[in-house]
Amino acid sequence: MLVRNKELDGALETVASVERKFNRWFRYPIVFLNDEPWSEEFKAAMRAATSGEVRFEVIPPDEWTFPAWMDRDAARASIKSQGQWMIKFAGLETYHHMCRFFSGKFYTIGALQQYKWYWRIEPGVEFYCDITYDPFLEMEKRGKVYGHTIAVPEGPRTCPTLFRQMSDYKEARGIEDTELWKTMVSPSWAPWPLRSLLSLLGWHRDRRGDAWSLCHYWSNFEIASLDFFRGKAYQDLFEYLDSTGGFYYERWGDAPVHSLAIGMLLDADKVHHFEDLGYRHDYWFQCPANAPGGQLLESKALNKPFDSEREDGIGCRCECDGSKTRNWPGYCLAKLKAPTVTKQTSLWERPVSW
Ligand code: GDP
Ligand code: MN
Repeated sequence: MLVRNKELDGALETVASVERKFNRWFRYPIVFLNDEPWSEEFKAAMRAATSGEVRFEVIPPDEWTFPAWMDRDAARASIKSQGQWMIKFAGLETYHHMCRFFSGKFYTIGALQQYKWYWRIEPGVEFYCDITYDPFLEMEKRGKVYGHTIAVPEGPRTCPTLFRQMSDYKEARGIEDTELWKTMVSPSWAPWPLRSLLSLLGWHRDRRGDAWSLCHYWSNFEIASLDFFRGKAYQDLFEYLDSTGGFYYERWGDAPVHSLAIGMLLDADKVHHFEDLGYRHDYWFQCPANAPGGQLLESKALNKPFDSEREDGIGCRCECDGSKTRNWPGYCLAKLKAPTVTKQTSLWERPVSW
């Protein structure tokens, strides 16, 4: 978890949820990352809240800043103007550092070298269902590289040239289009009028004229292979993106960067949708209906809201209302899963139901 000292309350909520729904049985270590020194209060509160090992790491300053070649005054002027254009979080210098960090440097810092897998968590997120199996082990066993829950479209103004840069890189390196890339870039439906308008200006279009759907995996939840992201194929791509300045002259988020990179570099069957996992970040959530017999007496006792009528799902003792799966509005998830749906059979290989 990357987090600031002042986000202690939100971080405690997340950790309590992760512990209750998963880690009290698995006892995985939690690594906390910060660009500033940790407060004693934060450390003490976290030690008390966790069942496994906890580590408090400070990111080396060189990994949380502008690229060395960049003119900082010019970058700051650009950040200021992005803020004036009301692009979400784009007026905050630290937000740009955070996105650049999660796009590339996160994977290469010393603090994570000993691990093969990570599960990214954030302050203020919530897990609704019991996770009774080891997701890392399942990913490993099934040859998966990247796991996600929610998929949404990116705000078009955060990254006008990202898709073009990605596509140029792909062409320059002679990388063949994967099935996943093809579904990402050929929107069968254009639900966002603004996007259509902007694509007339050349935004989100490659040199062939294909447009990116803006769909991406929402990276505040990720269970993924560190080896993939610190490997040469991904890091070369990150270095190229970094060299274009887009993390500062635009506000490229790590979510679209990861997603387009995955679309470019991986086959669709390397990507897993954790559809049995109940998860919320801000207002967006995924809530599976419970599997038969999957309700927990404890939930009833706590009088938590959940849909007691449905028992036809795949969730385990989910404490959320399974009748309302919100996933804006399923378009991006269906699109990103499209290359694999026809082949899917088991829980880990199920068809999408919308
Ligand atoms: P959002 O999810 O895009 O709304 O962005 P958040 O504000 O949730 O930031 C994403 C993650 O980065 C969260 O885990 C934050 O705690 C963390 N984060 C964002 N900015 C900073 C920062 O300046 N310092 C540190 N240490 N963490 C940050
Ligand atoms: Mn967040």
